[in-house]
Amino acid sequence: MLIIQMKFLQAILSVFHYSINFVQMQRSFLDTPIEFLKGVGPMRAEALKKELRIFTFDDLLNLFPFRYVDRTKFYRISEINEDMPYVQLRGKISHGELVGEGRAKRYVARFTDGFDTIELVWFQGWRWMQGKFSAGTEYIVFGKPTAFNRKFNMAHPEVEAVNEDNLKLNSALQAVYPSTETLKNKGLDSNGIRRLQTTLVSQLNNHLTETLPDYLVKENNFVPKEEAVKQIHFPTGNAELAKARARLKFEELFYLQLKLLKQKTIRSATTRGFVFSKVGDYFNNFYKDHLPFPLTGAQKRVVKEIRVDAGSGKQMNRLLQGDVGSGKTMVAMLSMLIALDNGYQACIMAPTEILANQHFVSLTETLGPLGLHIKLLTGSTKVKERRKIHADLLSGELQILVGTHALIEDIVQFKNLGLAVIDEQHRFGVAQRAKLRDKNKLGGNNNALAPHILIMTATPIPRTLAMTLYGDLDVSVIDEMPPGRKPIKTTHMTDNQRLRMFGFMKEQIALGRQIYVVYPLIQESEKLDYKNLMEGFDSIEREFPLPKYQISIVHGKQDAQRKEMEMQRFVKGQTQIMVATTVIEVGVNVPNASVMVIESTERFGLSQLHQLRGRVGRGAEQSFCVLMSSFKLSKESQIRIETMCRTNDGFEIADVDMKLRGPGDIEGTQQSGILNLKIADLSQDVKILQDARIIASKILDEDPDFQKPENFILSKQLEEQSKGKTVWSKVG
Ligand code: ADP
Ligand code: MG
Repeated sequence: MLIIQMKFLQAILSVFHYSINFVQMQRSFLDTPIEFLKGVGPMRAEALKKELRIFTFDDLLNLFPFRYVDRTKFYRISEINEDMPYVQLRGKISHGELVGEGRAKRYVARFTDGFDTIELVWFQGWRWMQGKFSAGTEYIVFGKPTAFNRKFNMAHPEVEAVNEDNLKLNSALQAVYPSTETLKNKGLDSNGIRRLQTTLVSQLNNHLTETLPDYLVKENNFVPKEEAVKQIHFPTGNAELAKARARLKFEELFYLQLKLLKQKTIRSATTRGFVFSKVGDYFNNFYKDHLPFPLTGAQKRVVKEIRVDAGSGKQMNRLLQGDVGSGKTMVAMLSMLIALDNGYQACIMAPTEILANQHFVSLTETLGPLGLHIKLLTGSTKVKERRKIHADLLSGELQILVGTHALIEDIVQFKNLGLAVIDEQHRFGVAQRAKLRDKNKLGGNNNALAPHILIMTATPIPRTLAMTLYGDLDVSVIDEMPPGRKPIKTTHMTDNQRLRMFGFMKEQIALGRQIYVVYPLIQESEKLDYKNLMEGFDSIEREFPLPKYQISIVHGKQDAQRKEMEMQRFVKGQTQIMVATTVIEVGVNVPNASVMVIESTERFGLSQLHQLRGRVGRGAEQSFCVLMSSFKLSKESQIRIETMCRTNDGFEIADVDMKLRGPGDIEGTQQSGILNLKIADLSQDVKILQDARIIASKILDEDPDFQKPENFILSKQLEEQSKGKTVWSKVG
């Protein structure tokens, strides 16, 4: 029996041995420096390294085409329309000549497919073009048609005389690769790079072994790795290409999720946190006697999630997502009370002075009956007051600190900060967040623990992005609005309907409502045809004259005191109209304000528009949002405005935003590394991302250290990927 077992063991070991050797062999091929590829000399190698960071065979194989052109069809000239990216034509060139003078000099050739004609134009290299074409020869012309004077032409097309070979070559989807000026000068335009890929792919011969565990390939019906790589560069058809892309996208997102989730497991295993073991008098008294309204179900659930998390002995890193007006502040307050109940301090950090101020006011008012020691620290805090705050934080006398960036300065040290809340997270960088973690250590106590961190964001980050950006954070969502809210009605008006808009404003003011009118921030130097804030203010003053109407104005050039004064007049209901720049975007809470007029809507991004609209709809009255714009709008502006009119759902809006702008432009993504994705596209591959995350998480649950033989490959791949290439910056 024992002997049989031994034999069995040996057999298993030898299989491992074999596969490890095989993996090594594969790596050595893949790790071959790029200059060893036929067609790449030292000069080209240098350029490839510099321009595209291609150092090895593997790097080149991972340079995926960004699109494909269909060379399976020859178009007729009469079929050409403006939406066609590239077309392929077949016909003869009848006539060519140099036209124009000086810089406008160009070579123009007339091409005919036997039915119609089109002009081929070269602005450079025309000396060489002369005499290149012969009248009797049939050519394949490939290029991008552009409309000019209601006719189409093609600038700098590829032109080849028809022969058997190129007819065959063109009978497939052709990959287009990214290139740069420098590379083009060395013959490595898209076609040049494709030639290198041809050479490299022909050498693969099973050098590419599987990079996903076999069971994943089987369960998901993935094409094998090598097949996928071949197809991505040289697809034999649309279906084959789709399969290859699906597999490679999955692989990319899967390893990304696996890595993030593993980081999270490691962190929770190695980082201890304060244990908030109880809910005490502060929380209970407040909850029983002073809660201004019953919590929504979502608020209750989130408070509980936070309580469990902060009591677990791990350090909490939680992202709280909740649409504008969903009541995140109350959740923050209750969480802070739990910290206080356990003998710790708490702080809340906001991105602007106005918002910090507002938090301070609402905290002192709401929590007033508890007799807490709360202070505000911003850039305008006087030196003397500041010193006192610093001292009281260290002694532990100060229980809650509200503030702006001033709060993360090194000099601000706590005795025992138990919970740090960050409001409107997207305005803070990763580095700033990291500083908060060390707030208890700066006093020289190196063993002090990091506080629990609660990040609140009102910009709903598309779920896909949250999963990637914050893959190592826990996420809570408030998905329910406080009761009694009527959905905001949004309409679009163009500038020539301004009088109607003024009329509507007057009606609302007569009903006792207050109104925001918001202008985009415009630099004085920008000579743009947009209403500037002051002009707008003047026209509103003319339309809404004193003393019947009172108007506040708030903008970035005012000092804090003036701003505060204007704001307070509006908050107290002394003014009916608040004319402002985007200063008011974040946080301001005036429940009686029920109309938001946004000027030059086309200048704002979607998420910003949604934030602005969220300033109204906070009271019981029906609220309105009027989007003013010029008559002529770009396609994108139209989509933005149409989306705003259609829905109030922040997540839906965030998704559209991401589709329009790409994840790269969404705040907070720049440092994250998600832009380094090679093939997956977060705005489109939601389903794949979700699957990848579920699968990665399941694997980590069952085999956290990849001990099972079938999971060896996972450590190997993670290790490969971390070899100095993509460095995913730590988030949170
Ligand atoms: P946000 O999530 O945008 O920070 P706030 O916390 O400022 O939202 O809450 C928006 C408004 O809703 C505030 O006036 C707040 O007092 C009120 N509010 C919050 N929770 C509730 C609730 N459960 N019931 C009624 N009103 C609530
Ligand atoms: Mg808020």
